[in-house]
This record gives sequence, C-alpha cells and structure tokens, in this order.
Amino acid sequence: MWRKRRLFRVAMLSTFAVVVIYYTTSQLRTIQKWRNRRKVGSAPRWEPVVLMNELQYVGTERDEDAFVRHAFNLSSSNLLPSDRALPDTRHTRCHDPSNYGELPLETTSVIVAFHNEARSALLRTVISVLNRTPSDLVEEVILLDDCSDNEEDGALLSSLPKVRVIRNQAREGLVRSRILGALEARGDFLMFLDSHCEVNVGWLEPLLERVTQNPQTVASPVIDVIDMDTFQYRPTSSQLKGGFDWSLHFKWVPLSHKQREQQTNPAEPFLSPAVAGGLFLVSRNWFRMLGMFDSGLHIWGGESLEISLKSWLCGGKVEVVPCSRVGHVFRRRHPYTFPRGNANTYLRNSKRVAEVWLGDHKRFFYEAQPNARMMDAGSLQEQHEVKSQLDCKPFQWYLENIFPELKLPNEENSAFGQLRQGSLCLQSVEESSAIKLAECSESEPSQHSWAFSVHTASIQHRKLCLTVHDRAKCPVLETCTQSYQQKWSRHGRAVVLLSSGQCLESGTTSEVRLSECRRGAVSQQWDFTVELQAQDDHPVNIT
Ligand code: UDP
Ligand code: MN
Repeated sequence: MWRKRRLFRVAMLSTFAVVVIYYTTSQLRTIQKWRNRRKVGSAPRWEPVVLMNELQYVGTERDEDAFVRHAFNLSSSNLLPSDRALPDTRHTRCHDPSNYGELPLETTSVIVAFHNEARSALLRTVISVLNRTPSDLVEEVILLDDCSDNEEDGALLSSLPKVRVIRNQAREGLVRSRILGALEARGDFLMFLDSHCEVNVGWLEPLLERVTQNPQTVASPVIDVIDMDTFQYRPTSSQLKGGFDWSLHFKWVPLSHKQREQQTNPAEPFLSPAVAGGLFLVSRNWFRMLGMFDSGLHIWGGESLEISLKSWLCGGKVEVVPCSRVGHVFRRRHPYTFPRGNANTYLRNSKRVAEVWLGDHKRFFYEAQPNARMMDAGSLQEQHEVKSQLDCKPFQWYLENIFPELKLPNEENSAFGQLRQGSLCLQSVEESSAIKLAECSESEPSQHSWAFSVHTASIQHRKLCLTVHDRAKCPVLETCTQSYQQKWSRHGRAVVLLSSGQCLESGTTSEVRLSECRRGAVSQQWDFTVELQAQDDHPVNIT
C-alpha cells in the first residue's frame, strides 16, 4: 500500500517537473524570439564601411570622351566618394518604421552581376548596400564578375564585409550570371541589383515586408535616376507600373484609374504587370520553384519580362513598393560587346519569352517583330516543363486581369498582318507611295503591319492609307485623310473601294489595280494574317 502511494507521488512530482520545465523553456524561447525581433528601420549594426585604399582602387582615370567606355560619364562617377549622401526621395509616410510591422529573421543575399563595370560605380553599389541596410538583414553581397577584362575589379572588393566575389571564366551574360549567383546564395531572399546602383535609406525593409507577407511576391523598388552625365540622384515618379508593348520592349505605364481609386496613399505598394527594371527582391525558394530565369537567354534582355510573366501566370504576383528607393544609372546604349550581335540577341531572347508565355498571342509579337519569325531560338523544352509542372494560367488571363492596358494591336481593326493572295503579299515600295505584289516573306518588314478597320473603313500600312485617286487604276499609299478615296469594305474575301464598288485585283506582273468585281475570281481574293472579327462569311482564325 505504502509502496503504491510512493509510486503515485513520484509520478505526480515528475509530471509536475516536466510541465514546469516545458513552460520555462517555452517562455525562454519567446523571450529570445522577442529579443531577436528586428524592427524595421533600425540603424545599421556596424560603422559605415570605408574602403581604406578607395582612391587606389578607383584610380584617377579621366576619359578624353567620358562616355566611351561605360556609356556614362566616368569622370563624374570617379569624383564621387563611395559613401556619398543621397536625398531621401521617399514619401513622408515611409519615414516611420512602425509602418512596416515586424520583420522575419531570414536574411537576404544581394546579387550583383557585372561585366567591365566602372570601379567607382561598382564600389558605390556595394558600399551603399553595406551602409544603408541593417547588417543582420544581409546574408552576403555576391559580386558575380562576368569575366570582366580585369579580374581585380571584383577581387579587390572581396575584403569588404559580407562580400563574396565569384568569377565566370567565360562570359555568360547577365542572365546566367544571375542564375549562378542565385545558386550560390545562402540567404532566404534574393535581391538583384545592377552594378551601377545606389540603394537609398530604408530600401530593403519595405520590400522584405511584402515578400514575407506573401512569399510568392516579386517586389521591386521605385528606381530613381542617377544622371548618366552628372551623377546627380533624382527622384522618379513612384506611381508607375512596369509594362511592355507587343515588341516585348519594357515601358512604364501609369496606374489605372481603378488602382488610383483603391489606393489610400501614394506610399502603398501596388500590383504591376512587370518588374520595373531588373531590380527586385524574391524569396529564394519561390525563385527556384519558378525555374529561376530561363538559362537560354543570352547576354542581356528578356529576363525581367520572363520572370514577371512567369510569376503572374504561375501563381505569384509582382509589386512595386514606393517606400523602397534604389538609384540606377540609366544609359542610352550597352557599353559591352554582344558576341552574337546586339539586336539579334535581344530579339532572340524576346522570341523565347513570347514562344513560352504568350500562347496564341505570340502572333502579335511576330507582327511587331517580323524578323523574329525566322530566328532559331533554341530548345524551349525546359521552359515548357516549368509551365506545365506549375500549371500556369494562359496569357489571356493576364491580359484580362493584370495588364488590360496592353491592347490588341489596333483594337479597332478587324484584321491585320500581311495582306496576301496565295503566296504573294502586298508590299510597300521603299521611299515611294507605290505598292506591289511580291513573294511573301516573313522577314520583309514592308509586307507586315497592314490593317483593315471596319470602324474607319480604311486599309492602313503603318501610318499611311491605301488610296485610289479619281480616274487612277492603281492604289497608292498616302497620308490618311478620311476621304472617300480611302474608304474600303470587305465582302467575303474581296476588298472593295466603296465609292466605285470596284475590287482590288492582282495583275499579271507585280501590279495591283482596281477592276470590276467578279464573284469567285481568284485574283480578287485577299486574306489578312490575323482576323479579329468575322467578315460576312469570312472564317475567323483567331480565338
Ligand atoms: N551584365 C553582365 N554580363 C553581361 C551583360 C551585362 O554581368 O554580359 C551586367 C551589367 O554589368 C549590369 C547588369 O548586367 O550590372 C545589367 O546590364 P545593363 O546595366 O547594361 O542593363 P540595363 O540597365 O540597361 O537594363
Ligand atoms: Mn543597368
């Protein structure tokens, strides 16, 4: 009996002890967590970094023509210290750190790929990150030297705190360099910067807040301008979204009326169809799930649209965060070589993006960039795999919900593209108003961009209108005037001048003229590449 009671007491005591130990440790953990908690906007945890031999590193080089080597004024850049002060360009609402709530314990790897960057600009990029970011938020600054001519440009910076220098032995281009950086990164978040940036006060915290709230967010700062001549730092509008046209050229887009209405103040983050430039923060895991960037993109171009489309279509989103400001030196040209030619590389990269992500709408890209049709863009298998694995939405959804500002080309037109008859296409004749018929060629720009509008009853080739002067037989291209000589309609496949009721007809040579309409005459049958609206009995070939 006594034994039983003792046993019972021991059991009770040990249960109590376990409970007490558990409670105490959990409390300690909470206290620890609370102590580790970081408030946004807290001051850097280290003294501002100053490179001891900065002058020696940068050198005193002054170019005869300062723009030759870097496409920006090297002398202006070299005269500025690496830790120069910047004007705080944020909205006043951004100043209060308590706006941002609590930050995670995760860290960020800043990834800067560079090829032959001016040392002073590269150094300022790094120092601005080190000086304007609370140190415990930064895991590392990865400088990815993309085979610059002078290995020491990067190597000499490896003694700076947190800096890791990785060098490509062969030129890989911006995209594959960034991928390499991402593969090396140890931080939970990745921040991509160009090598001629300066981050501004409190830049990282508001971005972190967004990706922490939703880890499938690609968050981009507002990109202020560092003047390429004077290196003056100037604010830009914080109310612009990133977008693009059908050529897949990036462009800024003002916020929609609806977005402005929903906004309670201009400091609030807003959704954007594309990242504003190539500078953004993304969770490392999400970036990997998205297949990072397409590694088939060469040297420069296409990658920021690719990551934007991929994010939106595959379950994520893209935001611009006005409280985060990063300065960037915008240039008029790329100062480095493109081993396969500048225009070709960019067009080929864009073609890869169009082929994978635009779906049926890629035809609008090809209309805007006919030269891309014949290009070999390489294998797209991996990209298509990512798309099906992540069960990504069709481009139509993006057009309707995310980027309604991207209108179908000439939305009021009912047909456009090449205007063809069999294997022959209508073509403008260079430097004259004449037109002729020639063998269709995908790469002949003067055969593309014809458009028929029901609305204005006109047939246009770019800005000019198909015109038939009184008593003339052959149509020509002239400035659009809305006159009766430029009014056309389509009946089935026939193209009819309204005033005379005559039909457009191919001649025996390359000539095109007007003649009496004859039902079923093959020489009077015309087709546009893309039909946007049914024409009587004409088949609709766009979905
Ligand atoms: N870059 C690179 N390898 C290349 C081309 C560019 O590492 O082959 C780097 C370049 O040094 C810069 C970034 O990629 O840091 C973006 O290039 P750039 O500034 O010319 O692009 P932009 O700002 O005009 O879009
Ligand atoms: Mn740049």
